[in-house]
Parts: sequence; structure tokens; C-alpha cells
Amino acid sequence: MSYKVRFVNPAINYQMIKDEIDAAYFEVMSKGDLIDRGQLREFENNLARFVGVKYAVGLNSGYDALHMSLRAAGIGEGDEVIVPAHTFVATCSAVVNVGASPVLVDVGKDFDIDCDKIEAAVTPRTKAMIPVHLSGWMADMPRVMEIADKHGLIVVEDACQSLGAAMNGKMAGAWGLTGCWSFYPFKILGGYGDGGAITTNDPDVAMFAARMRYNGEDRLTGEYHGHGFTCLLDNLQAAFLDVKLRHLPEWIVRRKQIARRYQAGLADIAGLLLPHYEDPRRDHVYQNYTVRAKQGNDFSEYLKANGVEVLTQFRKPYYRHEALKLEDRGFPETEALSREVCSLPMNVEILDEDVDYVISVVRRFFGKVD
Ligand SMILES: *Cc1c(COP(=O)(O)O)cnc(C)c1O
Repeated sequence: MSYKVRFVNPAINYQMIKDEIDAAYFEVMSKGDLIDRGQLREFENNLARFVGVKYAVGLNSGYDALHMSLRAAGIGEGDEVIVPAHTFVATCSAVVNVGASPVLVDVGKDFDIDCDKIEAAVTPRTKAMIPVHLSGWMADMPRVMEIADKHGLIVVEDACQSLGAAMNGKMAGAWGLTGCWSFYPFKILGGYGDGGAITTNDPDVAMFAARMRYNGEDRLTGEYHGHGFTCLLDNLQAAFLDVKLRHLPEWIVRRKQIARRYQAGLADIAGLLLPHYEDPRRDHVYQNYTVRAKQGNDFSEYLKANGVEVLTQFRKPYYRHEALKLEDRGFPETEALSREVCSLPMNVEILDEDVDYVISVVRRFFGKVD
């Protein structure tokens, strides 16, 4: 069906920056700069500077960033890694695919790992923890780091949804051994296909990733430093991402404006939980504007039927998918929010009048006819 308000609209986003994207395309294509060239370096430098760390290494996807981080940290068979029960499945799959065991921990009301429940999941085999900064709202990193220090755990940040978020002035992705980034098209910094990166202050981790993304090869000497992978960020994507990174600060401002508009229009609805949390230390960059309604699918289907494209990640928690062979130890918050979540359109292409239309449909569902 064709929606009146789309969840995202990549064609309109392209029109907003067409001149710059086209210029980047013509430069790369006319020089034939396809693999591991200047545009990749440039983007990596700018990304590292943006996050406030020393190194960024461009990879093929957010999954690869997680996978490479765990390998760089030496995580493998016999190790346990703590991951949230509510996240995109890739956080957990990276753990399984290095041969380690994921240990799931429930999330809190803000959708991020519940720090009060982490320590009960630590065992003598626990080696690492992957806090996820979901939807643009950082996990409580001072507490995560304190727990990690106490138990000697490595922290890998799944920051795929939170580029630009900060806590106490320190950016998401700058706290752990690595920050993992995804540039999947609909992420806050989205390319035109798959893409990802790690950021880190550790030169050995950066070098490991730079070699392993290219079959283990040191590109200067030709020496293979291990059995590697093929997961390099394309030079063309890097050129596009560099253009979009320049716009990111103003786009984050716009996302916050949209969030405030939703809040002003919806805050009086008792049956609707909005993603606004009281914590002056952190800011929300609204990768997603995810609301909770007890009416679950009735609510999301009503929005769709009225022309509003919404996303309902993740109705069925990943640990309940049988083939993944994960243990459901009971995660009450994840269970409840999985039934209730609904992400409203949130992107920089959207107009205020579209936001107002979404607000009016939501209000009508709750019987608030103005
Ligand atoms: C998107 C995402 C990933 C994976 O990123 P890809 O680039 O799709 O591999 C991992 N974790 C979270 C939280 C994500 O949102």
C-alpha cells in the first residue's frame, strides 16, 4: 500500500543533498577509486574525530564491526558474553559466531540493558559485555564501565543506533574497547547499501581490524597476519557517508525537534508511553521514536490503515526463534515491550505537517478527537 507518511524516504533524502552526493560519485568514478583509497581514509578520520577517539576502521556492516571487535578482544570458545535480551539479533549472532556463549540480560524501561541485572549474569567464564545503545539513547555507560572494571570484563559497545549521542559529554562508542557502527541505509548515518565501522583508542585493535577486513593482509607489506575476512567498507560508500557525516549535527538537531513535536502532541495520552527519559547527563538522538501502547498490534495496524508507515521491532524476541537455540530465562520487560512497541516515522525528510498528521491519527486511536 502507499502510505501518506512513510517511515523513511530515501529518495527525498537524496534530493536534499543531491549536489554533494553526485559530486562524490563523479569524483570516485572518474578516478576509478574503488577499493581502500583516499575517500575511505578521509571518512575514517572524520568519523574518529566525530566520536572523539583515535581510530576508525571502515567495515562492511555493523555485524562485522561486532564480530571483528570480539575477535580482536580474543573472545572465543568457552567464553561467555553478556548481551541485552532486547536488541537486533546481530548483537547476539556475533557472539555465537566467534564460538562464545551469549548470556542474555533483560532491559529496563528505556530499552537499554538493565544495569541492576548485569552482575547476576556474571560467571567465572564471563569475558565481555555488549551494551547496546538502542534507538539513539545510550546505555548507562558509567555504570556499565564500573561493573566491567569490577569483574575484569571487556566492553564492546553496540552503538549502531546511536551515532552522535553522548553521556557526560563523552560520545557513544568512545567508552569501550570499541564502538561498533552500522551504516545500513536507515541508520542515523545511512549509506546506500551495507556499511559499518569500529572506532577505538587501541592501536592494536585498529590494526587487527584493518588487516582482518582484507583477508588478514597488511596492504603495505603484503604479509598475511592471520586467516581473515572480506569485510571492507567500499570506497564509494565511504565517500557518500563522508558527505552525510557533515550533515549529521544539523540532522540530529532536526530529529530532536521532531521528537519534541511528537511529545507536545501526545504527552497527554495516558495509555501511551513516550521515549522521553529524565536524565540530564544523556541526550537522545532519536534514531527511532519508539512508543509503547498496551493495544500492541491493534495500535500499529490502525496507524498503517490510516496511512502512517510504522515499524514494530521486535514483536517476537530473538531468543524465541527456535533455530537460534537460545535460552529463555525469563525477561519480563523485554516480553512486555515486545508486544507494545511501535516506532513512529522519524527521519530528516519528514515535514512538520506529516508529524502533525501522525499525531492526529494517534490521538484518534485513543479517542482524543480535538
Ligand atoms: C543495525 C544494527 C546492527 C547490525 O548492523 P548491520 O550493518 O545491519 O550489520 C547491530 N546492532 C544494532 C543494535 C543495530 O541496530
